[in-house]
Formats: sequence, C-alpha cells, structure tokens
Amino acid sequence: MTDKYCVIGNPIAHSKSPEIHPVYARQTGQDLVYERCLAPLDGFAATVKQLVADGFRGANVTLPFKLEAARVCTRLEERARAAGAVNTLVFASGEIVGDNTDGPGLVADITRNAGVAIAGKRVLLLGAGGAARGALLPLIQQGPREIVIANRTVATAEALARDFGQYAVPVSGMGFASVAGSFDIVINASASSLAGELPPVSPTVFGPGALALDMMYGSQPTVFMEFASQAGAATRDGLGMLIEQAAEAFAIWRGVRPDTAEVFRKMRP
Ligand code: NDP
Repeated sequence: MTDKYCVIGNPIAHSKSPEIHPVYARQTGQDLVYERCLAPLDGFAATVKQLVADGFRGANVTLPFKLEAARVCTRLEERARAAGAVNTLVFASGEIVGDNTDGPGLVADITRNAGVAIAGKRVLLLGAGGAARGALLPLIQQGPREIVIANRTVATAEALARDFGQYAVPVSGMGFASVAGSFDIVINASASSLAGELPPVSPTVFGPGALALDMMYGSQPTVFMEFASQAGAATRDGLGMLIEQAAEAFAIWRGVRPDTAEVFRKMRP
C-alpha cells in the first residue's frame, strides 16, 4: 500500500515540499505520496488527529504551526526539544514523534553543498526567532570556535544565548550595534529580508573568505546577500537549507538518504 505524507501549514499553496519529496521517492524507489494539507489556524491538533486516523505515516510542519507541533507530540527528539519547535512528525505505533530538521538542513548546506567546515570557525547568527533557535544545536555540534547571536530585540538574543550556555562552545547574545570583529560564517536567520531590510551590522563582520547565508530564498538575491557580496563574502540563500531539511525528513521517515543534487538542478536550473 502506498504510504501517505503531507506538509501542514496555513497558507500552504506556496510550499515547495510537494515538489521535492516525489523526486526523493522516485530516486530511492520508495512507494509514497506527499500532499499539501491546509490546517485551520485554530485547528492544528485536530488536523494531526485526522491525518493519523486517515493512515498518514508522517508530516512536515510549516508556518505558523512549528511551535504548536511540539505540543501535540507524545515524544520529542533532542534537536526538536532544543529548538522548541517541530518541522517533522512521525506517526508510528500510536506515537507522534517530533523532530526538527531545519538546523541539520542548514548545516548540511554549509558543510556539504558550500564545502565550508564549521569546526573552529567564528559564526555570527543574525536573528533570534524560531529559525535561529532551531539552528543552534546543530551548529554547536559542529564545534565552531564561537557563536555570536545578534538580534533587533536584545533581550531575546541574550535569553537564547543563555538557553544554549551549557555546551562547550561559547555562545553570546547582543544587539546588532554591539557586534565586534569579523566572522567566518554569517547567517541571516532574521526575517529582515522579507521586508527588504538589512540587519544593521557593519560590513566588517564579513572576514576574509567569509560565507554569508540568508535563510530566505527567492528568484533574486536578497538585500542581505547583495550587502555581503559587496563586502567580499561568498553568498547563498536558503534554498539549499530547504532542500536539505527535506532530505533529512525523508531519511527519518524512510531510512534512506536521497541525493539532493537532482532537486537543486530542478529548482534552480
Ligand atoms: P520568527 O518570526 O520566529 O523570527 C523573526 C526574527 O527576525 C526575529 O529575531 C526578529 O527580531 C527578526 N526580524 C524581523 N524583522 C526584522 C527586521 N526588519 N530587521 C531585523 N530583524 C528582524 O521567524 P523565523 O525564525 O521562523 O524565520 C526567520 C527567517 O528564516 C524567515 O525569513 C524564514 O523564511 C526563514 N526560514 C527559512 C527556512 C529554510 O528552509 N530556508 C526554514 C525556516 C525559516 P525581533 O526578535 O526583534 O522581533
């Protein structure tokens, strides 16, 4: 019998996941379908219950339900617990298991696709919302020299740094104006690009040979990518992160890791 998966969100029409998973399924010979699922804003838990009743094997979760998804799970994997958010659900043996593959997708895109090691590097993380929170544990696990979190609301950056203060990697939180020195990897995990705005940091944050990654993606480079490029950094948008988080979710569900290169070629010819 064909196994059923979906992506739950509101709105959901824009989601690219239903374009990605069928490619992975064909590649790996897995018999599955992957649909879009629009959940009412006040009906996420009921939607999940219905999907389980309908025999779905799992789901991805996107805006605005990633935090609520963590609450409907009967068990959370460590990275979902650290992120406080879930983007991948597994329905099995009466359990709803929550995981978060956004951070691992980001790390895979930086290390594998961009070919940039994170170990030993200075990392600047701009933004302190859900995406930044999800990125932190997977980044820390790569062993960078230091992670600095900078955010518009300073207290949120400070609180996030405190939450990740128990690891061997130094993590500090501050406002944009307090960022000092240069970094090897600068990640824009703020939603600033959505508004066509720049996080107000100095161009000197991009050290020699720096990589700048904006989690947002689109057909054109974001304002942050243009700013970073003018400062001499190599730039990437968030499409690779999206493709890699999908591969990670697929591997959780099916036990086999797809090759992401084909999806890259399809989505960015
Ligand atoms: P949240 O709403 O949880 O957090 C938003 C963050 O952006 C906060 O830190 C907020 O600061 C900051 N921010 C918002 N507007 C501005 C601005 N104009 N200038 C500076 N900072 C700003 O969003 P998420 O963390 O979920 O998402 C952040 C970005 O990451 C989005 O662009 C999203 O599309 C992208 N993303 C990409 C993924 C991918 O697979 N490529 C996956 C997940 C997210 P403050 O605390 O001061 O409000």
